[in-house]
Amino acid sequence: MMLVPNETVVVIGGGPAGLQAARSVADLGARAVLVEKRGFLGGTPIAQRYAALTPDLRDAETAMREMIDAVERHPLVEVRLNAEVTACEGTAGDFRLKVSGPDGKEEVLPAGAVIVATGFEHFDPGRERQVFSYYELDDVITLVDAEAMFKEGKIVRPSDGRVPERVCFIQCVGSRDRGIGNQWCSKVCCGIACKQAIEIKKLSPGTKVFVFYIDLRAFGFWEDELYWKAQEEYKVNFIRGVVTEVLKKGDRLLVKGEDTTMGRPVEIEMDLVILSVGMEPSEGTKAMAKVLGLPLESHGFIATKGGPLDTVSTPVEGVFVAGAASGPRDLEDSVSQGGLAAAKAVAMLRQAKV
Ligand code: SF4
Repeated sequence: MMLVPNETVVVIGGGPAGLQAARSVADLGARAVLVEKRGFLGGTPIAQRYAALTPDLRDAETAMREMIDAVERHPLVEVRLNAEVTACEGTAGDFRLKVSGPDGKEEVLPAGAVIVATGFEHFDPGRERQVFSYYELDDVITLVDAEAMFKEGKIVRPSDGRVPERVCFIQCVGSRDRGIGNQWCSKVCCGIACKQAIEIKKLSPGTKVFVFYIDLRAFGFWEDELYWKAQEEYKVNFIRGVVTEVLKKGDRLLVKGEDTTMGRPVEIEMDLVILSVGMEPSEGTKAMAKVLGLPLESHGFIATKGGPLDTVSTPVEGVFVAGAASGPRDLEDSVSQGGLAAAKAVAMLRQAKV
């Protein structure tokens, strides 16, 4: 029988998956210590100033605030901000995690189980291939940049502050691209582009919006509540095609590529181009994989051992993973996995005690 010093679960990462995991551990009557390397909780939606969540366009900050409050107010959750796990010793039921806090202060946290919820990073569209001129042209932005604008209640060209007459999204930037080694689909960017297309039309009904896609991957609410609404209600133009280049033409942008439905080259002028950047493993995810001895799957995310029937257990007993640390996830899946990882971690500790 394993020796269980206490029912503490250390959750690494304070985004949606980690917040849900910490809260669920505590709701189950165990103790959670949430370790977050940033100086605040909320993860990517707060750090990157998301405006609205899918599918209902709910204010992202309000939604995250609810999750954060539930954790901060819970008597069984302790939070460590500006803190990183730097080493781990022991085995399931008896881990000791070395945590480096603010001002280099170190502590050792004993834990029965660990949940890794270290999330993802957006692909850097200036990396490797510069075909979209992200760093050269002001009016080429990413989904993340657009979110920050929506948060301020506007959609404008960064170069001159004008409301754009024509906007296009380019899908699969940094995803489904074997040339750069990122062959995976990031799952959410089709739905996010549909959401943002609707937001643009709401802010500026006269703006024409185009989406260049390889194939549209939107299902469930992404399809029902965003894709069809964008197409039918907001008259967004979806063009099956591949964009090969974005150039400057006068004070506009020239988007060059191929319309793959018609099988012919396409050149179209735009005022603003939005790159639908995909997800990659975050630095924190890579670092925690090393510290905890977790194997990676073929794309560099943390591997799980259970396939479709167990999406949160890692091959290291007592260590679980939730959210985009194990591959591209939407918010719905991240939060679900946070709850599942908590249930499995607490169940493991209690079964070990019996
Ligand atoms: Fe491409 Fe859409 Fe998949 Fe994102 S969700 S990688 S844009 S197919």
